[in-house]
Amino acid sequence: MVKKKEFIIFFLLFLLAIFIIYIYRDVTKAKNEIFDRIENYQIEQISSVLKNIEKDMVTSFDIKTPDDLISLFSDIDTRKKYEHIISLLLTSNVKYAYILHKDEKDRFRFLLDASQSDKAEFYQKFDVTSPEYEAIYKEKKPQLIKQHDVENLYLTYLYPILSNGNVVGIFSIDITTNIQKIILESIKPLETFFTVLIIFILLLMGMTITQIFHYFVTRKKIFTDPLTKTFNRNYLEEIAPMLNLKHYSLAMLDLDKFKAINDSYGHKAGDYILFRASMIFKESIRENDILIRYGGEEFILLINNRNNDNTNTDICERLRNNISNEIFKYDGNDIKIKVSIGIHKHPALEKNLQEAIKIADEMLYIAKKSGRNRVIIYDEKEHTKTSSSASSKDISYVKEALDEDRVICHFQPIYNHKNGEIFKYEALVRIVSKENIIISPMQFLPQLKHTNMHYKLTQRILLIIFEKFKYNQKTVSININFSDLINPDIEETIIKHLSENHHLASRITFEILESDEIDNVELFKQKINLLHSLKAKVSIDDFGSGYSNFRTIIDVEANFLKIDGSLIKNIDKNNKDFKVVKSIIHFASQSNMQTIAEFVHSKEVYEKLLLLDIDYMQGFYISEPKAFLVEKEELFK
Ligand code: GH3
Ligand code: MG
Ligand code: MG
Repeated sequence: MVKKKEFIIFFLLFLLAIFIIYIYRDVTKAKNEIFDRIENYQIEQISSVLKNIEKDMVTSFDIKTPDDLISLFSDIDTRKKYEHIISLLLTSNVKYAYILHKDEKDRFRFLLDASQSDKAEFYQKFDVTSPEYEAIYKEKKPQLIKQHDVENLYLTYLYPILSNGNVVGIFSIDITTNIQKIILESIKPLETFFTVLIIFILLLMGMTITQIFHYFVTRKKIFTDPLTKTFNRNYLEEIAPMLNLKHYSLAMLDLDKFKAINDSYGHKAGDYILFRASMIFKESIRENDILIRYGGEEFILLINNRNNDNTNTDICERLRNNISNEIFKYDGNDIKIKVSIGIHKHPALEKNLQEAIKIADEMLYIAKKSGRNRVIIYDEKEHTKTSSSASSKDISYVKEALDEDRVICHFQPIYNHKNGEIFKYEALVRIVSKENIIISPMQFLPQLKHTNMHYKLTQRILLIIFEKFKYNQKTVSININFSDLINPDIEETIIKHLSENHHLASRITFEILESDEIDNVELFKQKINLLHSLKAKVSIDDFGSGYSNFRTIIDVEANFLKIDGSLIKNIDKNNKDFKVVKSIIHFASQSNMQTIAEFVHSKEVYEKLLLLDIDYMQGFYISEPKAFLVEKEELFK
């Protein structure tokens, strides 16, 4: 995400700059130290010579007062002699050397001048410019006066001539040194090098910053949808590899009937509503949720569920409410819009993000199909719990099987023990795995409940059966549930294939699970009537397993009652079951329904059932389901 390389380069350059500045500072410090050392060395030399001259003068001539010194140097020979001695100090750097004296009026005067040029006269006045001349009289210690211009350093070294602890005169030596200039010149290339290097590094740093800045600007452009200012699909692709799906639920949002907005109010109004709706989405989510415009008027929302597994529903409901309560004003029109949402609660359970999106999309599809403006949640964890098999298969598994034509039917005969004939076959769905293993419906049907994939699967089974039984004389039972029955696509398929083919229709029985899902009894009756009108037969499946609304059963005029296996399997041992089955058979015959016993798994059960007036039997004892239609000779094997 963040362009690491540029940051590392910037950091390294920064370190390098600090390092160079540190070295540069050290060089400057070293330069000053060199100056000081040279200076001290020169002064030490001069100082030791002056000390000797002072000693010689004071002791040889018994100098006690300043006046003694004046009278000593009034003598021209002595003056010349000392001028000569002192002039030995003169070098190219030391150009002036003289002895001064302060008269009674505190004026400084030359007593001797050993300089080669601009020589002063004896007792000539000397204009003092620095406080050190006075200071030496107080402190009685040598003083150093420093002055410099760009190229040279000017030093005046004042050395006291002491007698009995009093200053009687001063040696004043002027030193001019251009050593600094020499040193400065010699280190100049080094300094230039450092300066250039620092400028270069600063330039590089500037360039890196520009690049980082540019990166962020373009990154924002690449990852932002220009209309809604939300993230776009590129962003999802960018973050997908780093996304820990365990921390998110995945919701798919799609505005309802959005095309109608464009058609009624124009594309610009559509754009405006899209923009405003996405604002409402953003306001309804939290900072750590991620909203992405996935395409058109479809959004993906990654809901952070780290702290609470149920936030996803709350947020989606809030979002749905906020949208449906909003009145969008555009061009004098009050426009309302709704949103449908499909959620995959635990996308991390899927193979990858794409699979999770597919499932959330399926949920969205169901939300649309079941009336729009609603939130449909897929919670695979719960589905897995209800599945009896550890290796339950997900929706995408079924989708793949449908796409690759690996959905098949097995057939189990329903036996007429009264005449020894096979009465009909029950079609049972199977999936052939990629490894050619037959997968039982227990492994994939529970997860499909109420999903669009369930309807697709039912539709496929219908087509397989219609095709298979179109040209033979056999009779077949197909399992179908109430929600299948009210699905418009399934209804259309049934009508299409059976309305023109009474011969086929009359050999088909729809086995409908009798369950509490049948909340709309009128609709249920209506759909059963449709099947009757097509000349198909109707069987109530698993009768006696749940709650039984006898009235409804009688009302729908089913042709068969299939007694639930839980009442049959122990009928040889359990007398109560025997009595219940007996009364069901009685009820059925009273209502003109024939009865079928399923789960006939043993000889004992079979023989017990012979004592009752049951019409047909089905179970492993008679025959297991087979991929083909078994003949009567193959039964009881
Ligand atoms: P449903 O409830 O089934 O989702 O119905 P719908 O009309 O919203 O669905 P459909 O996907 O058929 O139509 C979506 C429309 O959204 C089609 C397209 O013209 C429109 N659309 C997609 N992107 C934009 C856009 O950026 N601006 C505008 N104004 N319209 C857009
Ligand atoms: Mg759409
Ligand atoms: Mg839409």
